[in-house]
Amino acid sequence: MTGPERTCVGCRRQRPQPDLIRLGLEAGRVRLARPGSTGRGAYLCAEPACLEAAGKRRAFARAFRGPAAVDDVFVAAFVQACVERKVVR
Ligand SMILES: [Zn+2]
Repeated sequence: MTGPERTCVGCRRQRPQPDLIRLGLEAGRVRLARPGSTGRGAYLCAEPACLEAAGKRRAFARAFRGPAAVDDVFVAAFVQACVERKVVR
């Protein structure tokens, strides 16, 4: 089965969309996308290293075409999401 592929904004690798964590923007801050949410999104592998790489490359501002702050709330939520992915698989 093949599905749509998306590019991780951290490592720039293309992966099947279900393998990536979708991100959205809320009031200028990067957040995990809510299920079913629409609009501009960005994708990261379920790897904290990819979040770090994306931050260093200012990839979020590019992906969202504007200011996109990465704060502690998002980092904590993303790391938790990574842990949950690993438990499921
Ligand atoms: Zn990645």
